[in-house]
Amino acid sequence: DTVGDNLDRTARAHPDRDALVDHGSGRRWTYREFAADVDALALGLLSRGVAKGDRVGIWAPNCPEWTLLQYASAKVGAILVNINPAYRSHELEYVLNQAGVSLLVAAETFKTSDYAGMIREVRPRCPVLRDVVLIGSADWDSLFGEPSAGNEALARVQASLSADDPINIQYTSGTTGFPKGATLSHHNILNNGFFVGQLCDYTEEDRICLPVPFYHCFGMVMGNLAATSHGACMVIPAPAFDPRATLEAVQAERCTSLYGVPTMFIAELAVPGFEDYDLGSLRTGIMAGSPCPVEVMKQVIERMGMSEVSICYGMTETSPVSTQTRKDDSIERRVSTVGRVGPHLEVKVVDPETGLTVPRGTPGELCTRGYSVMLGYWEQPEKTAEVIDAARWMHTGDLAVMDDDGYLGITGRLKDLVIRGGENVYPREIEEFLYSHPDILDAQVIGVPDAKYGEELMAWVRMRDGAEPVTAESLREFCTGRLAHYKIPRYVHVVDEFPMTVTGKIRKVEMREKAVELLG
Ligand code: ATP
Ligand code: MG
Repeated sequence: DTVGDNLDRTARAHPDRDALVDHGSGRRWTYREFAADVDALALGLLSRGVAKGDRVGIWAPNCPEWTLLQYASAKVGAILVNINPAYRSHELEYVLNQAGVSLLVAAETFKTSDYAGMIREVRPRCPVLRDVVLIGSADWDSLFGEPSAGNEALARVQASLSADDPINIQYTSGTTGFPKGATLSHHNILNNGFFVGQLCDYTEEDRICLPVPFYHCFGMVMGNLAATSHGACMVIPAPAFDPRATLEAVQAERCTSLYGVPTMFIAELAVPGFEDYDLGSLRTGIMAGSPCPVEVMKQVIERMGMSEVSICYGMTETSPVSTQTRKDDSIERRVSTVGRVGPHLEVKVVDPETGLTVPRGTPGELCTRGYSVMLGYWEQPEKTAEVIDAARWMHTGDLAVMDDDGYLGITGRLKDLVIRGGENVYPREIEEFLYSHPDILDAQVIGVPDAKYGEELMAWVRMRDGAEPVTAESLREFCTGRLAHYKIPRYVHVVDEFPMTVTGKIRKVEMREKAVELLG
């Protein structure tokens, strides 16, 4: 199936079920209404001259229009280019030109950003961009023509598409450097969404609360495609992440599933009056994107009632999910591993130097292979060749350990590994330990250059409300006797926030740059 065929199938099977709810505005669509609007918009795109293979950019926070365009562009075989809502004009210009976007659909403004102004500013330098439509404008409304008018034209286009055609360019989060445009096919992302949803046992009874961004695969694949391939409903709590709005949407819409990166769940659990929300409808959900502290996972299960919550691991380049915990995995495994390999995929852990598979229990670089591996980075064959080898293994750049039963633990990123005086130090291990400090809310550990040891450890910590800030000495005292001496952070930096990507990931690159400045 293509993404469009799959949506049609669901709309035929569950026409009167809710497909999409925008909690903020109260707008809602059944599958019949949603599929009709998607078709109308697809026809609008055709009439606007969008053809198969054309790049259509979407630059907007989470909103129903985002989702409608996701499916409408897939129906006409266009390649949707997801543009990060946090971008500024310089990054926007890069993406528009790198991907060769010819039609850009954008919000007019978002928060304090004047999108329309930034588009006007870069447009003279984007020769391929020939058309811009602002969401909510009369121009946008005019794209929704009379659906029955050109259904045959649409059916013809849909029939000419192949599941292996590219339909999406997704830029990676930019956690470790400049974002790269992963090019994905119908086959890549539709299957991934379907299998993720299958392991969550989704049916048309499920309602999935999605505070995670659509521009990222967490929202558009694990959220939207998992929902539409199983007839479940997508619930948008707010345009951008807001912990209170998320809890309200779960309560009001009786959501059965809730998604987030660990920092989102941490914020929701800390909302004043948390216990007053009725979250009794929650059954499952997904936590992914970055390492999840064990303590947070336990609270999500106990205080949010998400007894079947699963942890997924993956990356944009693999559509994204590669491993997932199952609901019948032991609690122990669900809080401490990222589960086992997903259906129809392969994983292996290799020595990054030799490329040979390491014994179980030994850390190494995780590699994945199968239907989910991207077609490549858009127009960057050299970059593609650096990560996908001749046997089609994707080298993830993540460090992992596989146990005897095939459960994987992510121990960090190759780029974040700290080598202090010849010892490999996994920041993750120290971060987990620092969580046990009663005054520390959140902790991140990085390596900083050091003349004597090559690298030294620095902990960035966020204190709990009202707690005295820790010092290098008090932290050392806390760690002594409980952590090996070479794992004890030498420097401590107390902060209110960590530098983050919009997906809620902590940018250690930025922390390292700042640390070098701090240490002068
Ligand atoms: P960039 O590639 O631009 O530096 P990024 O790798 O953060 O950014 P994404 O594709 O959004 O971009 O994220 C994939 C990465 O997120 C994985 O490679 C892994 O490091 C991390 N990750 C995802 N899920 C998990 C998880 N469950 N536990 C630990 N880390 C995870
Ligand atoms: Mg990456």
